[in-house]
Amino acid sequence: MRYFFITVFMLVACSSASAQCVDPRGIPVAEIANYQINDIAQASLLPNGAPVIFFNPNVLANTSPSTRLFFQMHECAHHVLGHTLGRMVLNMEQEADCLAIRTIVSRRMISNQQFQMIQADLYRFGRGDWSHLPGPQRAINLQACLQ
Ligand SMILES: [Zn+2]
Repeated sequence: MRYFFITVFMLVACSSASAQCVDPRGIPVAEIANYQINDIAQASLLPNGAPVIFFNPNVLANTSPSTRLFFQMHECAHHVLGHTLGRMVLNMEQEADCLAIRTIVSRRMISNQQFQMIQADLYRFGRGDWSHLPGPQRAINLQACLQ
């Protein structure tokens, strides 16, 4: 089962974003499954400084394909915007959400219905923390990004 979702995620990744996900230094961003992370996915740097997106297949399994694409683009956005290279701003999460959804919509990668599915998934994602808006707020914010 695990491998099924990894495959699905990789397919989404290959067909869309990750091939084009490059950090500001021009280094392509790798994607690595990691069952230990306490989140759906995480933008990070490897010890050698290479940009990477860790994703947790167990958490991804509970989301729709469009939502997986959104999270992939969200983590890619952290790299593209330089957040992982020390460009820390207060609203990093909203910034990454907006770049992700604008990219997805402008490339016509999802339908209106799939957009609503992403919002619904975000909505139930919950409580928020010091940097993430609570789920419902985040879903509304997504709409605002497109205005
Ligand atoms: Zn984030």
